[in-house]
Amino acid sequence: MTRLNPENCLILVVDDLLLNLQFMAQALESAGYEITLASSGKQALERMQLVRPDLILLDLMMPDMNGFEVCDQIKSNLSLADIPIIFITASNEQEHVLQAFDKGAVDYIVKPFNTYELLARVRTHLELRYTQNQLKKMLEEQKELVKSLERLANTDSLTGVWNRRYFLKIAEQETERSRRYNRPLSVLMIDIDHFKSVNDNYGHAVGDEVLIIMTETVINYLRNLDILGRFGGEEFVVLLPETDNKSAVITAERIRENIEQVTIPVDGKLVSITVSIGVGSYQKGDASIDILIQRADTALYQAKNQGRNRVVSHYFPQGVYS
Ligand code: GH3
Ligand code: MG
Ligand code: MG
Repeated sequence: MTRLNPENCLILVVDDLLLNLQFMAQALESAGYEITLASSGKQALERMQLVRPDLILLDLMMPDMNGFEVCDQIKSNLSLADIPIIFITASNEQEHVLQAFDKGAVDYIVKPFNTYELLARVRTHLELRYTQNQLKKMLEEQKELVKSLERLANTDSLTGVWNRRYFLKIAEQETERSRRYNRPLSVLMIDIDHFKSVNDNYGHAVGDEVLIIMTETVINYLRNLDILGRFGGEEFVVLLPETDNKSAVITAERIRENIEQVTIPVDGKLVSITVSIGVGSYQKGDASIDILIQRADTALYQAKNQGRNRVVSHYFPQGVYS
C-alpha cells in the first residue's frame, strides 16, 4: 500500500477570525499540506462546490452560520458526507463535544491548542481515511477479479458460452424448479453435421470460426432466460425453461433453418454447414436433468440416422411436427 503524501491532501480550514486562519494555515503548510481557507460557513459550503477537501477543520462558533449547521449541511450531501470533520473551538463544554461527535465529527480540538497536537490529529485522520479508501479500492478490484475468474472457469474459451460443468449446474437447478412447480422445460442437443470434413477441407482455424458463427446464430434465436452451453467438441446444448416440447421443436427448427442459410467466406469460397437437433422435454416425475439430456441425445442420434440436417423430438421420433 502506498503512503499518504501531504502534498496530495487538501485541507479546508473554516474560521471567522483571520488570526486563527493564518495560524492554522502556517502550521498546516509547514507540514506540506495543501490548504484552502474560508472565513464563514457559507463561504466554506460554496468552496466545496468547487473543490473537494480531504479533511475539514471547522470552527464551532461563527456568526450567521455556526459550525454545527455547516456540519449538518455537509453530512446531508451524499458526495461530501464522508469527508472527515474536526471541530476546532474555544468551547470545551461537554454538551458541545458530545453534539459534535453526534453530528459525525471525527475529532474535537479545544483552543488554544498545541500545533504538534493539531498536526498529529490531522495526520491520523487523513491516514485513516486514506487507508479506508485504499481498502475499498482493493476490495472492489478483488470483486472484479473473482467475477472474471468465475466467468473464465464457467465458460468455453472459444465460443464464450457456458461450459459443460456450469451448464449442468444451472440445468439441474432448472429441473428442480420444474419438478417443484410442475413447469415445462426442454433441452436441445445440437450437433454439426459432418464437421470433421470442415476441418479436413479448410483447416482447424476455419473449423473454429464455424463454431463461433454457429453459436452466434443459435444465440440470436434464444430468449434471455434460455441457457446455451458447449457440451463437447461440436456438440451444443440449449436449456429452454418454461418451454414445452412443441415450442421447443419450433425453436429448434428455426435454429436449424437459419444455420443452413449462413455462409462463411473462406478463401473465395462460401462454407456452409447444417446441424441435427435432438429435443427432449421434462416429464412429470423426472428427477434429474440427465434424463432430459438422455432423451435429447437419443433424438439427436435418430436425427443423424434419418439423414442429418433435421430436428427430431423425443416425443415424435419419426420427425418434426407438421
Ligand atoms: P456427424 O455428422 O456424425 O456429427 O459427423 P462429424 O464429423 O460432425 O462428427 P465427428 O464426431 O466424427 O467429428 C467431430 C469433429 O469435430 C472432430 C473434431 O476434430 C472436431 N472438433 C471438435 N472440437 C473442435 C474445435 O474446438 N475446433 C475445431 N476446429 N474442430 C473441433
Ligand atoms: Mg469563532
Ligand atoms: Mg457432428
